[in-house]
Amino acid sequence: MSEQNRSGGELAPRREQGDPAPGRRSWLPGPAQGFGVTFATMFKKVTTESYPEVPKQTKPRYHGRHVLNRHPDGLEKCVGCELCAWACPADAIYVEGGDNTEDARFSPGERYGRIYQINYLRCIFCGLCIEACPTRSLTMSNDFELADDDRQALIYTKEQLMAPLLPGMEQPPHPMRLGEDEQDYYVREPERSSPAEPVVGERA
Ligand code: SF4
Ligand code: SF4
Repeated sequence: MSEQNRSGGELAPRREQGDPAPGRRSWLPGPAQGFGVTFATMFKKVTTESYPEVPKQTKPRYHGRHVLNRHPDGLEKCVGCELCAWACPADAIYVEGGDNTEDARFSPGERYGRIYQINYLRCIFCGLCIEACPTRSLTMSNDFELADDDRQALIYTKEQLMAPLLPGMEQPPHPMRLGEDEQDYYVREPERSSPAEPVVGERA
C-alpha cells in the first residue's frame, strides 16, 4: 500500500536495498557503472591541441578582443556617445567624449571618443556593446589571447583598440577627406566605405 504525505498526496514508493537509484536504469553495482564510463572513454578519439605552437582557429563569429574602426579616410567612427558603456552589463567600458574642432578633427561628427577604455578583467565577451553602437565603430575580432599577469595591462586604451591605418588612410586629426556634408561623406562613394578590417559584428 502506498504511503501518503501530510496533505494526502501519494509518496513515491520506498526504495528497498539493492534497488537502482531513481533515474538509474542499470542493475549493475555503482562502481561497475563508474568504470563503464572510464572504459568507454578510453576508446574514444583523443583531441590534442598543440596550442600555442599551432594557433587555435576560432569560429568566424567568435567574440574576441574589440576593435574601434575607422572611416576610409582614417577618421574614427566613434562619436563618444557612451551607448556601449551603458549597454555593458559588466561595467567594463569607460568613455569620455570630446568636441571636434576645425583645427583638430578626429571623427566626421561633432564629437569623438577622447578617452576609450575596455577593462578585460571585467568583460564577459557578451557582445551587447557592439549591438548598442550606432556608428558600427565598435566591433569584435577573433583575437582571444588576452591573458596577462599584470592587471593594469588588461585595461586596454583607445590606442590599443583602434584599427590600424590601412593604405589610403591618414592618422587623425585631419579634415574630412570624403566630402564636407553627410551625402558626400557617407553615401557618394560606397566602394570606399567598405569595411577595412576582418571583424565580426560589422554588418553590411
Ligand atoms: S562584450 Fe559585453 S561585457 Fe564585454 S565590454 Fe562589451 S558589453 Fe561589456
Ligand atoms: S564605440 Fe560606438 S557606442 Fe561606444 S561611444 Fe563610440 S560610437 Fe558610442
